[in-house]
Amino acid sequence: MSFVKGLRCRECSREYPKQALYVCEYCFGSLEVHYDYDGIKKTLTREKIQKGPKSLWRYRDLLPIDGDPAAGFYSGFTPLVKADRLGEEWGLKNLYIKDDSVCHPTWSFKDRVVAVALSRARELGFDTVACASTGNLANSVAANAAWAGFKRYIFIPANLEQAKIVGTLVYSPNLVAVNGNYDDVNRLCSEIASKYRWGFVNINLRAYYAEGSKTLGFEIAEQLGWRAPDHIVAPAASGSLITKIWKALKEFDKLGLLENKLTTKIHCAQPEGCSPIATAVLTASDVIKPVKPQTIAKSLAIGNPADGYYAKDVIRDSSGSAAIVSDEEIREGIKLLARTEGIFTETAGGVTVASTKRLIDEGKISKDGIVVLAITGNGLKTQEAIQQAVGEAKFIEPNLAAFEEKVMQKEKKETHHVG
Ligand SMILES: *Cc1c(COP(=O)(O)O)cnc(C)c1O
Ligand SMILES: [Zn+2]
Repeated sequence: MSFVKGLRCRECSREYPKQALYVCEYCFGSLEVHYDYDGIKKTLTREKIQKGPKSLWRYRDLLPIDGDPAAGFYSGFTPLVKADRLGEEWGLKNLYIKDDSVCHPTWSFKDRVVAVALSRARELGFDTVACASTGNLANSVAANAAWAGFKRYIFIPANLEQAKIVGTLVYSPNLVAVNGNYDDVNRLCSEIASKYRWGFVNINLRAYYAEGSKTLGFEIAEQLGWRAPDHIVAPAASGSLITKIWKALKEFDKLGLLENKLTTKIHCAQPEGCSPIATAVLTASDVIKPVKPQTIAKSLAIGNPADGYYAKDVIRDSSGSAAIVSDEEIREGIKLLARTEGIFTETAGGVTVASTKRLIDEGKISKDGIVVLAITGNGLKTQEAIQQAVGEAKFIEPNLAAFEEKVMQKEKKETHHVG
C-alpha cells in the first residue's frame, strides 16, 4: 500500500512516474515525491503512528516506498533531549537537542535517508547501490547496503577524516577516493550514474533519499507532544535536510496532526569556509554563489549545493535566518555541548551549536520560545578537528605519591589561582 502518486518537478510541476528519475526533462528542475494527501488523511492518526515501530518506519505512510522496507530497521526515533544546562548558559528555558548522533547504526542522520533510498532501490530492482559522499553518507551506505545485501560503490573526496574512511572500509565496499573536493566527486558520479545502471542514493534516487530527512522533522513534532517548535537550527550541506524538515512540519500541519499553529522558524547553520546558502540568506540574494570549500566541517563541505535555492526559500518562507561561524567557534561549540550536555558531536554539530549562540546574540532567536537544535553526527568520527583543543591527560607513574603530586597538588594550585 502506497500513497505515492509519482514524482513532480519542483519548478514546472510536470508529473513523472515513480522511477529512478531526478531531473525534469523540460526545465531541468529537480523532481520531488508527490503524495495523495487526501488518502493519507483518511487513515493516518497520531495513534496509528504511536503504535508503529520505534524507528523512522513509524511514518511509513509519508515515505516513498510501495512494500515493506528493506533497510534501516534501527534508524530514526532518536532522543529529543531537554538541554537545561546549555539552556541556562544561553538564558533559554525551552532548549532541546534532537540527538541524531546516537542510536543510529552509523551515528549520523544519514542513516535516515539511506534507509529510505535503499528500500526504494530494492523495489526498483537495483542490485548495486552507490553514493557521492562527504563522509557520513559513505559510512551509512556501506553499512546498510552490507546488511541489505547490495553491491556497493562509495565515492569520497580523498582528504576525509580517518574515522570516516575506516568506518566505510570496514563494511567491504568498493571505496573510491577521488583527488578533488565533494563537488568534483559529485560531478564524476553524475557521469558514472548515466553510464552504469546503479542506484546512486543521492543522484538518481535523490527524490526518495531526500524524503528520509523528513522523519527528523516528524520526530521533533511528535516528541514535543505533537507540537511544532518556535525555532529549529539545522546545519546545511546540500540544503536537503533543511528543506525536508520544513516539508515534514507542513505535512503534519496539513494532516491535522499538530496541536499548535505552525509558526516554526527554520535557521541554517554553515561554516565560514563553506557558506553558500547562509550567505545568500544573509545578503538577501536570490543567487547561490558556488564556493571552494575550506573548513574543518568536512561533512558540510559542499560548495555547489544541489538544494541551495530550495533551502534559501524555506528559510525565507518560515521567517528564519542563518549564521556563519569560524573553525574556532566550531571547536568551542563542540566543547560547549560536551561540557554542558554530555554530548560529543562532530564538526557539523559544532557549527549548529555555535550558530545558535550567534542567532541568540543577534536577537533572531527569542529566549522564551521552544528551540530545537538538530545535532546530526557523532564526534568520534572527527577527532582530528579538536584533538589540539581538548587539553591533555595527566601522565603519572602507578603510585599514590605520583597521583597526589601530579594531579591533586596541581588541582589545588589551579583552584587557588582561580580563587
Ligand atoms: C550530510 C550532513 C548534513 C547536511 O545534509 P544536507 O541534507 O546535504 O544539507 C548535516 N550534518 C551532517 C553530520 C551530515 O553528514
Ligand atoms: Zn520541470
